[in-house]
Amino acid sequence: MTVVESEIQRSMLETITKKFYAKREIRPGTQFENLVSIIISQNTNDKNTFKAIALLRKRVGIDPDSILSASKEEIIDCLRPAGLYNVKAPRIIELAKRVKEELGDSQKIEKMNQEEVSKFLSKIRGIGPKTVDVFMAFSKGADIVPVDTHVSRISKRLGITDNRDDYFKIRSKLERLLPAGRRVEAHLAIINFGRKVCIARSPKCPICPVERYCPSKGLFYPLK
Ligand code: SF4
Repeated sequence: MTVVESEIQRSMLETITKKFYAKREIRPGTQFENLVSIIISQNTNDKNTFKAIALLRKRVGIDPDSILSASKEEIIDCLRPAGLYNVKAPRIIELAKRVKEELGDSQKIEKMNQEEVSKFLSKIRGIGPKTVDVFMAFSKGADIVPVDTHVSRISKRLGITDNRDDYFKIRSKLERLLPAGRRVEAHLAIINFGRKVCIARSPKCPICPVERYCPSKGLFYPLK
């Protein structure tokens, strides 16, 4: 990678961050609740996530003791609006169990740093590095770029990463190009950009603000 290439990539990311800006909102509630809501939000939209969280809060309660006192079937029933409830319910139960067994008190999560959170959560099936990073970014205010499907696709299309790069490589390549303190903003902006312009199946290259420098332009629409 030449200096000019990396400057072009930096500039494309800056343009996307400015034009598709979204403010980071630190999630309300306890950090245990935040973790539960991140699990519920996997593979679904905000509306369905909120419905499932509201049901779980009303019928069961969102703290380790309430989760462990409820039956699995009841938790599954609350999670129905968010889909994948047979997968998400055992993850939430396992999270509650581990918090009780290993930490004793869910308040201890509030004091954990990134390394401790990552070590603790990585033992729970179905909780990967993206979940940890989303939690760190939106519950603990960390300056990182969680790599979701939009971030991964767009970083490839912009030529920043390639198919051989794993989660951590993609994240570190992006973080090298993004100014400190603005990485979560960039994450949110890339998601907006991926929903509105650089769409997975039909990117709108002719209206894209970084089309001039994007190495993938023209792969998705016929050039005149
Ligand atoms: S030019 Fe096309 S492929 Fe490149 S970033 Fe823009 S929309 Fe995506």
